[in-house]
Amino acid sequence: MAKLTVEIVPVLSDNYVFLLHEPNSGATAAVDPAVPGPVIEALAAKGWRLSHIFNTHHHADHTGGNRELQRATGCAVVGARRDADRIPGITVEVRNGETFLLGSAAARVFDVPGHTIGHIAYWFPDSEALFCGDTLFSLGCGRLFEGTPDQMWRSLVTLRDLPAATRVFCAHEYTQSNGRFARLVERGNPALTARLDEVDALRATGQPTVPSTIASERACNPFLRADQPTVARAVGMEPGADPLAVFTELRRRKDVF
Ligand code: ZN
Ligand code: FE
Repeated sequence: MAKLTVEIVPVLSDNYVFLLHEPNSGATAAVDPAVPGPVIEALAAKGWRLSHIFNTHHHADHTGGNRELQRATGCAVVGARRDADRIPGITVEVRNGETFLLGSAAARVFDVPGHTIGHIAYWFPDSEALFCGDTLFSLGCGRLFEGTPDQMWRSLVTLRDLPAATRVFCAHEYTQSNGRFARLVERGNPALTARLDEVDALRATGQPTVPSTIASERACNPFLRADQPTVARAVGMEPGADPLAVFTELRRRKDVF
């Protein structure tokens, strides 16, 4: 059981590609390679050889580099069986609950529909690392392009239940703008205030706010806190209101924020 090294590669305006390297075997994966060029450069700088691509969902800003990277390296392309017809170059189809190996590092796959129907997340328990694409963001969550609020709420609860120390590697640097909405929802949440200060300091020096942790998101992310009385009140509902109704209203308000 080996721990992964994770390298963050910023691409496009606000996407992150993550390079996962398992040092014993040399196995190396790119999570959601939006574009090939910066990934190839980062691999060369590290001296790593790409063995896998992991896709969380089919959107072009997550799969745009698949074909060229596959051509250049012959790597395997891992994606959801449910989305096999929409993931370019897919060679390994995975499904909910399945475990597979990157070298000697075990990854567990979760279905997390909502942003898209076939969206999945990859969890490496021994490395305390979660790759959740556009499902859970720091201080936010993905837009509902294909799924229902009910699906998304259940997906978020699945991720919220992972161990507190789990590092959350989400696919976009949206934290600061998510934070402006979060602050409106829970102005009196001291954990959120501290996180916003930390985020501003990181962004002021051009550093990523990713990864966050499950503990931090539980404490600060309004979309994971739809069952908190403060959040229910913020959207005009009674404390104890159905968390799904609170989540649905929060997501609606964020869409027009
Ligand atoms: Zn997306
Ligand atoms: Fe995206």
